[in-house]
Amino acid sequence: MKVMVCLKQVPHQDARLDVKADGSWIQEDNIKFEINSYDTYAVEEALRMKDKSGAEVVVVSIGPDRVTQALRTALGMGADRAIHVNDPAAIGADALGTAKILAAIAKAESADVIFAGLMADDGNGAAIPPMVAELLDIPSATGVLAMNADGGTIKAERELEGGALEVVEMPQPCLIAIQSGANQVRYASLKGIMQAKKKPVDVKSLADLGLAGSVGGANNKTAIKKIYVPKKGDSAEILKGSTDEIVAQLVTKIKELGLL
Ligand SMILES: Cc1cc2nc3c(=O)[nH]c(=O)nc-3n(C[C@H](O)[C@H](O)[C@H](O)COP(=O)(O)OP(=O)(O)OC[C@H]3O[C@@H](n4cnc5c(N)ncnc54)[C@H](O)[C@@H]3O)c2cc1C
Repeated sequence: MKVMVCLKQVPHQDARLDVKADGSWIQEDNIKFEINSYDTYAVEEALRMKDKSGAEVVVVSIGPDRVTQALRTALGMGADRAIHVNDPAAIGADALGTAKILAAIAKAESADVIFAGLMADDGNGAAIPPMVAELLDIPSATGVLAMNADGGTIKAERELEGGALEVVEMPQPCLIAIQSGANQVRYASLKGIMQAKKKPVDVKSLADLGLAGSVGGANNKTAIKKIYVPKKGDSAEILKGSTDEIVAQLVTKIKELGLL
């Protein structure tokens, strides 16, 4: 059995994010990056399948040179090999272009189960995983909190609004987009980190995947026009004082506005 994990490297949660002068993206120089938080749960879920049934786990990431670090971390956690798509057109691709790349790799690898995060911490698209499944014409489940593989069938528990759960059943191959908090993510052990140095990271271009000229650039159906931080409203007022004083001021203001 082969399990593929789609892994995105995103700015570290504690990184100070500044928008580039031209508003096209954030300043990436001098900030730390980490594995997208949702994807760490996806890696863990894949490794549990490996522990249980001996599945081969292949981690895949699209991005510049720095992405190698994220892939090495996943290899240190226990993944068997990595594929790194490092191509300028791929890095600037929109969600559909990114999904086409991931689908091409899943097809070439004949992946039985594809794991992804529910969404990316930076782009918040939550679009790529279902797109990958549609492109491959395979079933998918998003927002998965728990799953069980049994004889070619996957049973997955999805989180619904208000904390309710939904159980779905799908044949393999299929795609599972994991919800945050689905499991307890393991750390890469020292032994794992040492072993990871010897594990293969296969660097691919779009041409290697038969996708040269068909994703990114002019193929993007959406273009980022501007990224900006909204201005603070003039009518905003920051209440000052101790918690008790702030609560008292807030209650007075609510009464003044006739809301109570
Ligand atoms: C420099 C730059 C320029 C861009 N220009 C454009 C543009 O012009 N037009 C446009 O529409 N978009 C552009 N994008 C892409 C856009 O910002 C989003 O990345 C894209 O729309 C998808 O959203 P998301 O990354 O939030 O994915 P989501 O759908 O939220 O991601 C969910 C899951 O998909 C998988 N995944 C996502 N990205 C990757 C990856 N790189 N490698 C492996 N797995 C992945 C992960 O499992 C992730 O948890 C650009 C991005 C960059 C960095």
